[in-house]
Amino acid sequence: MDKIDEVVEKVVKGEIELHKVDEHLDGNAAVVARRMAIEKLTGKSFPSIGATIIDYLDVKGRNAENVIGAAQVPLGVAGPIMVEGDYAKGSFFVPLATTEGALIASVNRGMKVLRHAGPVRTKVLRDGMTRAPVFTFESALDAFKFTEWVKSNFQEIKRVAESTSSHARLIKIDPLQLGNNVWLRFEYETGDAMGMNMVTVATEAACSYLEEKFPRARCVAVSGNACSDKKQSMTNELLGRGKSVVAEALIPSRILETHLRTTADRIQEVNLRKNWLGGARAGTIFQFNAHFANIIAAIFIATGQDVAQVVESSTGYTWVENRNGDLYISVTLPSLEVGTVGGGTRLPTQREALSMMGVDGGGNPPGSNARKLAEIISAAVLAGELNLLSALSTRELGKAHLRLGRGMKT
Ligand code: NAP
Repeated sequence: MDKIDEVVEKVVKGEIELHKVDEHLDGNAAVVARRMAIEKLTGKSFPSIGATIIDYLDVKGRNAENVIGAAQVPLGVAGPIMVEGDYAKGSFFVPLATTEGALIASVNRGMKVLRHAGPVRTKVLRDGMTRAPVFTFESALDAFKFTEWVKSNFQEIKRVAESTSSHARLIKIDPLQLGNNVWLRFEYETGDAMGMNMVTVATEAACSYLEEKFPRARCVAVSGNACSDKKQSMTNELLGRGKSVVAEALIPSRILETHLRTTADRIQEVNLRKNWLGGARAGTIFQFNAHFANIIAAIFIATGQDVAQVVESSTGYTWVENRNGDLYISVTLPSLEVGTVGGGTRLPTQREALSMMGVDGGGNPPGSNARKLAEIISAAVLAGELNLLSALSTRELGKAHLRLGRGMKT
């Protein structure tokens, strides 16, 4: 019996726990053994999950645990889209990984129309990743004195936090108080990293320092939910998280008519009654848009972003105006959390997808690649919004989904 079979038998008998397989075999063999054990235990086989080019020696301790293979999602391309931003300048093909038929076609059609209209203008309005530890005190007065102390000792706290990383730059600390509890919302520039690990490590160091200098403060948790990671929040909407980015375009009426068979008036009505009025009536939280989440999720999967952050990254607003028959359209995304180094961006297909847009790895200067990616994503979101609003205005949505989502001829 070879070593892998031996480990498989022990896992099946419960003598080796799944996560301890790595202690007996190297990364890739451990993946095979774990998969074989799960096959035996469930009586099913997983050849497709096992068929992957990922080198697990590289994943171990970085991206996932108890690995048995990989999930594969179709990856398509939309574009090119022309972008005129501070960081993204030129034409870009955009990779989208999805199983929703018609999505990539929708974004692609929007990009085609935008190409005829000229480049999409984009702007990163602010950039900063946040962590908000929660502290507790004997009294509200102590809590208040603490926030005052933090304000007057910002430079020293910054020095401590930044000592943990060569890229983290503490920009500010926003305090929030509730009774005898205080949340300090630390905001950092994180270069080209999305930054969650980076700011967590930096903030932990700052918390230890704060407890040492202000012994009446007790840090309950380094993440106190006012960050707010993987949650929609008013704080994220108002103060922003990750990149706050805007994209806009002006589409002449003849292009609307020729390519989308619609008018600025009809698109404006759909935007107002669907995105804004419908959103208000239904109580949509911070999502006065048609389908930001579709585009954000597909690009996040393709490029190795943290997919759970689609929650706040896909909040935002679509605004359109009928300007004498021409259509002004903009999208604003307050909390787009993306990186081009770290996390899943280092995996092979994800890195290739980033390279397609010229944003793989660290930028020069640091931060420029991640901001460029944010600008390209905002332009892709604009294209998706334009196309969906247009398809709704001409009642083509159902047909497109039957053809591209169910494989039916329409
Ligand atoms: P990371 O991979 O943990 O850190 C980024 C690394 O890249 C740092 O070591 C940094 O070095 C280095 N680096 C090299 N060139 C850089 C450049 N140009 N710009 C920025 N950094 C550069 O990535 P992260 O973005 O901080 O964290 C992302 C991961 O956190 C994802 O896997 C995500 O799923 C996970 N996550 C963690 C938490 C949490 O609470 N910890 C929460 C949500 C998500 P230096 O720091 O030495 O400068």
